[in-house]
Amino acid sequence: MSHPNADRSNDTGPRRTVYPIMTEKTFTPLYAPCFEARSRESPAFQDRPTSHWFDKQPRRFTAEQREHTTLLFGGLTVAQDRFIQAALTGLGYKTLALDCPDSKSLNLGKEFGNRGQCNPTYFTVGNLLKYLHHLRDEQGIPTPDIVENYLFVTAGTCGPCRFGMYATEYRKALRDAGFEGFRVLLFQQTDGLKQATGDNDGLAMDTRFFLQLVKAVIAGDVLNAMGYRIRAFELKPGDTDAAMKRCHGHVIEALSRRRSLLRALWRCRRELARVAVDRTQLRPRIAVIGEFWAMTTEGEGNYRLQQFLESEGAEVDVQLITAWLLYLIWGKRYDVRRREDLAPLGGSDADSPDPRGLLVRLWLADRSIRGMFQVFARVTGLYDYHLPDMEALANLSHDLYDNHLRGGEGHMEVGKVMMNVIHNKVNMTISVKPFGCMPSSGISDGVQSLVTELYPKTIFLPIETTGDGAVNIYSRIQMQLFKARQAAQQDVDEAYGRYGIDAEAVDRYLRTHPRLQRPLHRSPHSAGSTSADLIHDIGARLRSWRRIRETANRFVRAFGLGARTSPSDRRA
Ligand code: SF4
Repeated sequence: MSHPNADRSNDTGPRRTVYPIMTEKTFTPLYAPCFEARSRESPAFQDRPTSHWFDKQPRRFTAEQREHTTLLFGGLTVAQDRFIQAALTGLGYKTLALDCPDSKSLNLGKEFGNRGQCNPTYFTVGNLLKYLHHLRDEQGIPTPDIVENYLFVTAGTCGPCRFGMYATEYRKALRDAGFEGFRVLLFQQTDGLKQATGDNDGLAMDTRFFLQLVKAVIAGDVLNAMGYRIRAFELKPGDTDAAMKRCHGHVIEALSRRRSLLRALWRCRRELARVAVDRTQLRPRIAVIGEFWAMTTEGEGNYRLQQFLESEGAEVDVQLITAWLLYLIWGKRYDVRRREDLAPLGGSDADSPDPRGLLVRLWLADRSIRGMFQVFARVTGLYDYHLPDMEALANLSHDLYDNHLRGGEGHMEVGKVMMNVIHNKVNMTISVKPFGCMPSSGISDGVQSLVTELYPKTIFLPIETTGDGAVNIYSRIQMQLFKARQAAQQDVDEAYGRYGIDAEAVDRYLRTHPRLQRPLHRSPHSAGSTSADLIHDIGARLRSWRRIRETANRFVRAFGLGARTSPSDRRA
């Protein structure tokens, strides 16, 4: 073995570079004593006591404080924030859901936060500060009383992206804004939703608590999905929103008074069934995916994206928070299975001494959430809604985005775009993410360029939110919407061609079968837009009827009974 820089003047053979193999023997004399060991021996380190930095977390919340302490929270959709507030009120807590974050929240977040954070931090931290300023400056509550009588509950994790820093950011901004000691309690997402900071006494994290939370989240998801399905086709603008407002009232009453949620959802069904719709209007269906907070918020954090799309004549397909819960469960199951594979190689399964039992519990959790969702959906009238198959999503995206990467939405963004185009679920997909979001714009969007190469029919638009520049974003969306409308029109034309019908035949059929125009009706999925689905639905019905009629005519001719035409025959 020779070093690459060794003297080769006497070599006669072909020139080859041979690199040394780094073994313990060759490594140690080269690099030891290492920098740390040498530094520790230096006199500068001798007399200095070790003092590690420790982030002091004001987190005490005891059962005695419950009566006078208001729990603040927020960050999901408006419906879910309100329902969670009602659910916690029903459990005996004093709670308040903060308003949807706006530009003022962003400015406050930037003023008191560190540089270089992603903007969900600025929006959510600023939103909390905005409310605390309101208490102090407008309601005249002294700061020590605010610190004593309020606390904030939010989700947290240890990473891998900047989400892991949110709790520290909250504390930094609160301290700098004059609310030193204000408590921020975290639900750890990756650790099975257990409280990571805080004294357990105040928040009783028992089955009842989580059940109420899950019910509130799922009820919110079902109503949100219903709203987006109906609003795009309403005949009188504002009808759906008015009905949704009444629905929120029913659910809030049920959750806060611990009454039957199913009965409340049934009342919602009746409210929504009164909205008049016309599904023959051509509305391109647009999926909104992306970073969790950016795609979920309904305010200035994503330029009111959902509202803007609807105002431009699109039907919005939102991602549900229930799907996020399923993703967390999937991630845990995947990791346990991988650790099981490692066990024979000497790896450990530190998380659980009983991995089989844990897998069964996770499977049960998955089934329970899906079951609860479908019950709520059917009662409310949300038919034919399929929650994503997490295993299929992971398998589909795995070749392009490794399933081990978990920041942000992990492989889900890539998987969702692939699913959308393979199964023609929507006419266009928008992926929205905060500026500089590492998992979403840094990784997923890079992979999406390959997805669009592999599936040229994809209409995909990634947008980054910064809190300003809304006009620029709207203009980019409008340009892509033009393409989406063309795709939707093509879907409709194909559907007409396939069944040999036209718009007039569809109108005629709808006049004689008005139940297809009921707001809760859902035609089976066949194409990227709802109007194309409706044409496929009607075309298939007409075709079946035509076949029955032809068979009957053949039968009649064969037996010489003479042709007869039924009244419904003539109508069709
Ligand atoms: S997913 Fe993106 S925006 Fe969200 S916390 Fe992580 S880095 Fe920030």
